[in-house]
Amino acid sequence: MTLSTEPVLLLQVNSMTYDVFVLGAGMVGTGCAHYLQESGKTVALVDKGAPGMQTSHGNAGIIQREAIQPYAFPRQLSVILTAAANRRTDIRYQLPAVLSFIRPLRQYYHYSAPARYAGIAREYASLISLSLETHNELIHKAGAEALTGTHQWLALSRTDRHLEESYLSADLLAEQGVSHTKLSAEDLKLREPDISPLFPGAVMWTSPRTIRDPSALVQSYVDLFLSGGGTFISADAQTLSRTRDGLWEIRNDQGDVSQARQVVVALGPWSTLLTAKFGYQPPLFSKRGYHRHYKTQSGKQLNNWVLDAEKGFLLAPMNRGIRLTTGAELARLDDPQTPRQLEQLEPVARQDFPLGERADDETWSGSRPCFPDMKPVIGEVPGVSHMWCAFGHGHQGFTLGPATGMLLAQMMTGQKTAIEMQPFRPGRWT
Ligand SMILES: Cc1cc2nc3c(=O)[nH]c(=O)nc-3n(C[C@H](O)[C@H](O)[C@H](O)COP(=O)(O)OP(=O)(O)OC[C@H]3O[C@@H](n4cnc5c(N)ncnc54)[C@H](O)[C@@H]3O)c2cc1C
Repeated sequence: MTLSTEPVLLLQVNSMTYDVFVLGAGMVGTGCAHYLQESGKTVALVDKGAPGMQTSHGNAGIIQREAIQPYAFPRQLSVILTAAANRRTDIRYQLPAVLSFIRPLRQYYHYSAPARYAGIAREYASLISLSLETHNELIHKAGAEALTGTHQWLALSRTDRHLEESYLSADLLAEQGVSHTKLSAEDLKLREPDISPLFPGAVMWTSPRTIRDPSALVQSYVDLFLSGGGTFISADAQTLSRTRDGLWEIRNDQGDVSQARQVVVALGPWSTLLTAKFGYQPPLFSKRGYHRHYKTQSGKQLNNWVLDAEKGFLLAPMNRGIRLTTGAELARLDDPQTPRQLEQLEPVARQDFPLGERADDETWSGSRPCFPDMKPVIGEVPGVSHMWCAFGHGHQGFTLGPATGMLLAQMMTGQKTAIEMQPFRPGRWT
């Protein structure tokens, strides 16, 4: 009698208990879910919204293999003064955000000092080096090639001086294996006949890959995960709690409870709202970005993703239209939208390229989750057993999602990691 009922009980428990919850179905959480599943774990991916619809939706869609140097806090006095006056188009701020981020911003300045920055950039480069191969693997497995665009993007210079400096910087990165081509004004005209002739040239980065619909790429990776037996749970991660026997518990929108032995926090800019409840509160702050789409004027074409480097915005020929994405605005998650940058940049963008009419009714904004030392946290949360984290990828989380997932899965399954993980340890903030 006892023997015959046991298998039934086991089945009931297994249907509700996973090896791992991954909280957050942005590019980072989705990358974690995929690689954990591939390493043999049963995984439930948890989000309160649809996958890939927050920061991983509105970005510029570049898998930035070339981005081996993270964005430092400006150190030149002229930049600091114009930024302080809130007059720049690439960096802006909302005052309450600056006041609330004062400590992480001071740390950001500290870590951006040249000698410290050089070490950080070396560590960051090791992470970025895994980005393209991991995305390529997932794009292939997910059959998502139709979402991909060019294998290059262009950084335009407005002045000869800026162009010379860009060429020099690109040559230095070439020594670290990042490829580029230098474009003269004539080369640029051949590639982009409709771009204004005001630009004397550009650096064309030739190692990245571009995506025509970033959230659709996340969704395609989620579909791959689901087809491999993964589960998606629609639930608020803030319901996470711990049972007396040490399991993690999540309650979904219908009140159903699921359990897991381990949890990965990949909630992007919202991550510390959860980890703080468990005593882990690293200095995460956010750099907001905005986007808007434009129609293409008949007879005009933008062939490449192009950055107006001196004005600090990017034009990306996406499926929905030409997406204009802005640089950074220091703003807290719930601060109101101030699309000042977009208002300032739209006329500039129209001089650069003949944009058609606006294709969106609403302005999109999203927050890049940033740490003062410009590196994400990837690893086990100090002092909280079986809680792992993968967040704080700043300007390159779309690029780094799958690489982060692969590394985290290697750590969680006790394998040798593809790169040294000490620089990314969550405990560096405790
Ligand atoms: C304008 C702009 C341009 C950018 N361009 C690029 C680029 O070209 N290349 C690049 O690599 N990066 C780019 N980035 C950065 C990149 O978009 C982010 O680093 C990346 O999307 C962060 O991914 P994530 O998965 O950590 O966070 P998100 O994509 O924000 O995912 C977090 C998820 O957590 C979920 N969540 C939050 N709270 C809860 C909760 N309580 N319960 C359940 N779920 C919750 C959200 O719904 C969301 O799905 C850009 C960013 C901006 C703003």
